[in-house]
Amino acid sequence: RKTLERINEVDSKVNAYLEVFEDAIEAAKEIDKKIAQGEDVKDLAGIPMAIKDNICMKGRKTTCASKILENFVSPYDATVVERLKDNGAVIVGRLNMDEFAMGSSTENSAFKKTRNPYDLERVPGGSSGGSAAAVAAGEAYYTLGSDTGGSIRQPASLCGVVGFKPTYGRVSRYGLVAFASSLDQIGPFTRDVEDAALVLNAICGKDNKDSTSVDVKVEDFTTYLNKSLKGVKVGLPKEYFGEGIDNGVKKELEKAIALLKDLDAEIKEINLPMSQYALAVYYILSSSEASSNLARFDGIRYGVRAKDFEDVVVLYVKSRSQGFGREVKRRIMLGTYALSSGYYDAYYKKALKVKTLIINEFKKAFEDVNLIISPTSPSVAFKFGEKADDPLKMYLSDICTVPVNIAGLPAVSIPAGLSDNLPVGLQIIGNYFKEGEIISLAHGIE
Ligand code: GLN
Repeated sequence: RKTLERINEVDSKVNAYLEVFEDAIEAAKEIDKKIAQGEDVKDLAGIPMAIKDNICMKGRKTTCASKILENFVSPYDATVVERLKDNGAVIVGRLNMDEFAMGSSTENSAFKKTRNPYDLERVPGGSSGGSAAAVAAGEAYYTLGSDTGGSIRQPASLCGVVGFKPTYGRVSRYGLVAFASSLDQIGPFTRDVEDAALVLNAICGKDNKDSTSVDVKVEDFTTYLNKSLKGVKVGLPKEYFGEGIDNGVKKELEKAIALLKDLDAEIKEINLPMSQYALAVYYILSSSEASSNLARFDGIRYGVRAKDFEDVVVLYVKSRSQGFGREVKRRIMLGTYALSSGYYDAYYKKALKVKTLIINEFKKAFEDVNLIISPTSPSVAFKFGEKADDPLKMYLSDICTVPVNIAGLPAVSIPAGLSDNLPVGLQIIGNYFKEGEIISLAHGIE
């Protein structure tokens, strides 16, 4: 009830939610009853949370903040939703996002502008802007988002909360509307690192419904809290602290690095020169996959169908022209071009090769260090409209986060102070399936 009241009080300003489930109170009462009867309940029982609107919940709309899915009602629960429900979670609503998770400011939503709770004139980041803003504004105790190139970590950074992208394959993507299937991963937004550990405990693990999910033991991540950092080797990639990173951001990171030294961690400068190609690789691969994944939205099988049409081709064209927004169309065109015969070798295949080089470079770095730290975002939250008309400027917001998705590594963004009263995020990258080590370092800094 308190959470619904809080949403009522502030969401007309923040606009994090696309829909609030007033009937969530019934689910909460059920949990209450179980507790009253002395039943053993799990860690997340009764705790109000909310979900990015590209993750399916049975009987609820899943719109991806797109007109083309405005009326789509999901016939099933995503695996993460099933696991959260089994854990007793109380889901209070659907959260705003960039259309089909394409963007870094949530300005690409077809429905509303989510505002940064720290400064309502600024963006919350994206694409999971609603998920980050809801936690920052106290409109949910935790939320889920998806991260294809930074969409959990970058908005977490801009809104001053914790955002965790697990290793590719750690969390089932079943029921997550695909953007770029080889990069997409679901993860939590929380107020602190301990909560992130608790949510990861609930959502991680092999799922037979997702062939890319991996059968790696899910340890209790809370056992990684309160660990000594003595002797932990932390790499500082010099490419992530250079040109393009705001001084205010660097300054806060330097403080975190000094703190790590105080905690007896071993700081080492490292080089990741292939990172300079990550943004180009990311936009070729993600757009290529998107152009294929979004082919299913044809006005016939899902969502909105255009009204007047003479034949089936016109029906496709009109439904897609009317249903998709500008950025989504841009990505479909980019991806179709990169995959077309004659260009495939020059763009898509080349990008795959560079992807392998980026992976090898990270693997090599992790022979020398346990963890890598960097800024999450090159700047603090920017103003509405500042980058919206210039896609390249917007794409640069992802410069520090996309290499991680290309390599499939786990990473978190945690708050690391304020610059001009706006939150700065610190990114911690771990080796494959080393979420636990990330939690130890993050908790130490927190
Ligand atoms: N901002 C990036 C993009 O627009 C990343 C999005 C994401 O991680 N979903 O593609």
